[in-house]
Amino acid sequence: MPKILELQQHLADLIAAGEVVQRPSSVVKELVENSIDAGAGVITIEISSGGMTYIRVTDDGCGIGADDAKTAFLRHATSKLRDADGLAAIGTLGFRGEALAAIAAVSRVEMLTREHGADEGVSLTLEGGVVTDLSPGGSPEGTTIIVRDLFFNTPARHKFMKSDRAESGSVASVVLSLALSRPDISFRFIKDGKTQYHTPGDSRIDSCVYNLLGREFEAGFLDAESSDEVISVEGFVGTPSAARGNRSYQFFFVNGRAIRSILLQSALEQAYKNSILTGRFPSCVLYLTIKPSDVDVNVHPAKTEVKFVSEKQVFDSVYYAALGALEKAQGVVQSASLFDNSDDNSFKVMHVEDFRKVHVAEPSNVYKSQAVPGLRTAGELSANAPAQKHTLKPVGSAGHDVTDSSEDARYIFSADSLTDFHVSPFRVIGEALNVYIIVEYEGSVWFIDKHAAHERIHFDALKSGDYEPMSESLIIPVVCRLGHESTAILLDNSSFIEELGFTVESFGEDSVAVRHIPSDIDISDTEAVLSDLCLQLSSSSPEANQLDSIYKAIACKAAIKAGRASGMRELEALAARVMSGELSHCPHGRPVAFEMTKSTLDKGFGRI
Ligand code: ADP
Ligand code: MG
Repeated sequence: MPKILELQQHLADLIAAGEVVQRPSSVVKELVENSIDAGAGVITIEISSGGMTYIRVTDDGCGIGADDAKTAFLRHATSKLRDADGLAAIGTLGFRGEALAAIAAVSRVEMLTREHGADEGVSLTLEGGVVTDLSPGGSPEGTTIIVRDLFFNTPARHKFMKSDRAESGSVASVVLSLALSRPDISFRFIKDGKTQYHTPGDSRIDSCVYNLLGREFEAGFLDAESSDEVISVEGFVGTPSAARGNRSYQFFFVNGRAIRSILLQSALEQAYKNSILTGRFPSCVLYLTIKPSDVDVNVHPAKTEVKFVSEKQVFDSVYYAALGALEKAQGVVQSASLFDNSDDNSFKVMHVEDFRKVHVAEPSNVYKSQAVPGLRTAGELSANAPAQKHTLKPVGSAGHDVTDSSEDARYIFSADSLTDFHVSPFRVIGEALNVYIIVEYEGSVWFIDKHAAHERIHFDALKSGDYEPMSESLIIPVVCRLGHESTAILLDNSSFIEELGFTVESFGEDSVAVRHIPSDIDISDTEAVLSDLCLQLSSSSPEANQLDSIYKAIACKAAIKAGRASGMRELEALAARVMSGELSHCPHGRPVAFEMTKSTLDKGFGRI
């Protein structure tokens, strides 16, 4: 074993920096949080080239005294935490005293600051964490920090950065969430010289949300609120018709801090259980206020997760706030499915307030059903939800209706014909329940799951590369608001998704306009499929198993739906593929067909 030595300070700083500063958006987050903690009323954020070359954060907060300017950049230097007791009741966003040291270690930093009431400010510059200049300087009250050439001295990290567009997207979503977190602070975000966001800072949740998300909620904000002795919730939830293909527009804030929480997410979605379809997600901007001692923010290094002392109460508060908002909008909430104790099975309609009274002793009925977060089954939702109507209709290049079943047969076959499959004669008897094809084949009866079979055919075609997408051009492009990050990911991968049959164009910073979709995908699935694609593409460049997931998602959406009647030609086409033995399982591993032999049938009738 080599001799154990203490790490050089600079090396230790670089290692620590890797944990705090992953990309430009993490720098922006830390700097803006410092400004918020400094009591700023106005914060301006400016970036160039995705923040890689230039980030500036200016605030009118308390400033830093000349004596403290250098100290602020030391590791574990903080003015926010004095002793272990303080850790239990943190009211500031920062407290670890790591951020400035970490940022300075991997960039060129310039700070201009003047304490409130001080005659003079101070200017400090650092390069790779080393102070290169400290001098008195003219500065307005408050602090400006400029970060240039991020990761200039850590080339390995630099290599991991995505495109400027992707990094800008990530910064924009960080700023969006910080700006939403504090309606009392005026935020301005400037990207490559252009103002992207500006909030008034008038303490009004509605003006803040409208300024940042106006378009998102144009279909309607619903006021949501609830409060009891432990927790209060206020803010907005989106109408069911404004539900989205992903969760990027679900914002939760706990005591002014943006957090991610499966608990809160489940509470919200449970409230929409009967009003939206599987795969669609409600939007929200909800502010929770809880006693600091009832919530632990110290569980996650990036501080985006928290632990609640009373999870059930928190769940109920969000659930009832959202349900109450929906009730007001709809007049009544159909909450029949929540009644365990009803003695008849007839459908019930009840006002939320009444519902709450009945269940106040045991609101955990709702909570328990959600104890395993995220387990809301597809069947549960789709069984209750009304089908969503889409007024847009694609007009195919050849003028055909894409839902026509004879057209589906065309997709199954492409250029092939029945005779291409070496299959002995079979006879399609018909279709049962609009799901199962019944076939007589070589002395047995076969049942084929038509959706699973079609899905497999698509998947194999995509995988083998001989999928020639037939694109449907949309006369009216479909606008999908996927959020800044997903939008950047899609645009960066536009040639790949073109191969799949989509063409997308930038439509504002956080949306894409979709001009073509694969002709076998329903227009109403566009946003969901693109969201799935983003999810897969976001981890890194598409690799084999990731591509499989992408293909699975597309195949599933493209496959004819169970529950829809099919024409005989379509049934025969599918049966031919299955009987030729080329398909056995759908891409998700479910069987495509099963056989009932003559002897099984004979046994059933006591013939043998
Ligand atoms: P932390 O925020 O965890 O305390 P940082 O490294 O982010 O650690 O900041 C170190 C200290 O520098 C803070 O505790 C605060 O005293 C001071 N500071 C940083 N940014 C600002 C700012 N914009 N205005 C006033 N003080 C600041
Ligand atoms: Mg900080």
